[in-house]
Amino acid sequence: MSESMYQSIHFKSKGRATTNASKPEVIAKMKEIVGEENVLVAPEKVEPYGADAVKEKFPPEAVVFPENTEQVSRILKLANEYLFPVTARGGGVGYTGGAVPIEGGIVIGTDRMNKIKEINVDDLYVVCQPGITTYNLQKAVEDYGLMFPPDPASYKESYIGGNIAENAGGMRTPKYGVTKHYVLGLEVVTGRGEVIRTGGKTVKNVVGFDLTGLMCGSEGMLGIITEATLRLLPMPEATATVRANFKSMEEACKVLTKFTPEGIMPMAMEVMDKYCIEAVEGSFAFGLSKDANAVLLVAVDGSKEEVEKQAKIIEEIIKANGGFDVVRSKSREEENKLWDVRRAISPSLNKYGDLKINEDVVVPRSKVPELIKGVEQIAKRHKTFVANFGHAGDGNIHVNFVCNRSPEEIARARACVKETFELALKLGGTISGEHGIGYVKAPYLDMAVDKSTLEIMKQLKKVFDPNGILNPGKMFT
Ligand SMILES: Cc1cc2nc3c(=O)[nH]c(=O)nc-3n(C[C@H](O)[C@H](O)[C@H](O)COP(=O)(O)OP(=O)(O)OC[C@H]3O[C@@H](n4cnc5c(N)ncnc54)[C@H](O)[C@@H]3O)c2cc1C
Repeated sequence: MSESMYQSIHFKSKGRATTNASKPEVIAKMKEIVGEENVLVAPEKVEPYGADAVKEKFPPEAVVFPENTEQVSRILKLANEYLFPVTARGGGVGYTGGAVPIEGGIVIGTDRMNKIKEINVDDLYVVCQPGITTYNLQKAVEDYGLMFPPDPASYKESYIGGNIAENAGGMRTPKYGVTKHYVLGLEVVTGRGEVIRTGGKTVKNVVGFDLTGLMCGSEGMLGIITEATLRLLPMPEATATVRANFKSMEEACKVLTKFTPEGIMPMAMEVMDKYCIEAVEGSFAFGLSKDANAVLLVAVDGSKEEVEKQAKIIEEIIKANGGFDVVRSKSREEENKLWDVRRAISPSLNKYGDLKINEDVVVPRSKVPELIKGVEQIAKRHKTFVANFGHAGDGNIHVNFVCNRSPEEIARARACVKETFELALKLGGTISGEHGIGYVKAPYLDMAVDKSTLEIMKQLKKVFDPNGILNPGKMFT
């Protein structure tokens, strides 16, 4: 990027009302707000803030690190005055480019807003700033015997603000739900720079519209979350995991619905196909059987007696439905080892090509076998490699099309993506279960959301952010 690009802060997109502010003037004002040391402008310093897990680069023109709500509000008011884009960033491990400033402007890094303000054991909530990692929050509440259930696999890097803005899910979703089920209240700075407070500290709250729910999954387009009050649960006494191999993904996925008639709601049910098995074996040699074409992991939690009883029943059900090499954890350490296989998938899949398009379609869980079969047929038709794994227990499958970066291979992979979305919709599901829309899935949004509903969403955006300051170029193309 040439030095001249850094002379003004501006909208890069055409056809939008814009005032090209003098960059030095705006930078000076931002330094006044957050302090000189908390504003980055040098190209090599801002570059890392121009990408997320999608790995495409759109460097911002400056990165600003506020430490409190008032500073966030002042920055947004400045952006409205000078009309430059502002993109909020958490851990920067989103999968749809949400935190990436594709139309330039500044990035607000929430790293300094990482404090826990209160852990209330009696009333089961925690109040925190958005920049704390999910992992650090979980560890902090565990010290009080409490649990914050949403657990995206990225939990060591992702921030609570990012989790709320993406309404992140995770392994424990089948039993515990997703992030929005644990957000009691929020403090938000809207696109206009006003500070609003939604919800409160109670599980029950039906006063006015549910703006807390609206903010969950709003992808940094309506406001910047500056404080969250999150619901906690008591930490269960015990957990156990059963892992089994199957001859096919279809067999493994058909077991998913067999536990509920026995009164068991596993907290996690994850599958991986033979290509994932080959990839993790190639990288880590876990010793999975060569006869396995699918692996199923099922985890339960509760009291020691309950867990013991349920894990045994799960083992029996799995064996009766084609599972082999069935192993059950007897300790936390053994359990972690069983899950290492699952955690190893994502990085291992790179062996199949330079470009991995990781989709996260979701269908009602009984339709997972049909989804996987359909996806395999789509990939075969377009001569594209596909590996499937993920949160089968809630119907959310990570469909990974892997190819090399030649235009033909990419075009074939993109055709697979579109047909996979069509299939998920046909099966009663939708195009994203947890990664959101960002700019990556924006061209497909109208496949899943009808025109009138889309119009309401666009109007809501205008109410919160009339000048289109926040995260332009995302969601609505
Ligand atoms: C290896 C890997 C595994 C993953 N596993 C899962 C998984 O199991 N489940 C899952 O749901 N996702 C998963 N993800 C996707 C991703 O980690 C989640 O979407 C996560 O919630 C993103 O958090 P973040 O802090 O990195 O957000 P970022 O990527 O920084 O930002 C995401 C969006 O949130 C907005 N945002 C960030 N902070 C704020 C704020 N304070 N206020 C308003 N908007 C804000 C941004 O503008 C952007 O639109 C995974 C990603 C990777 C790379």
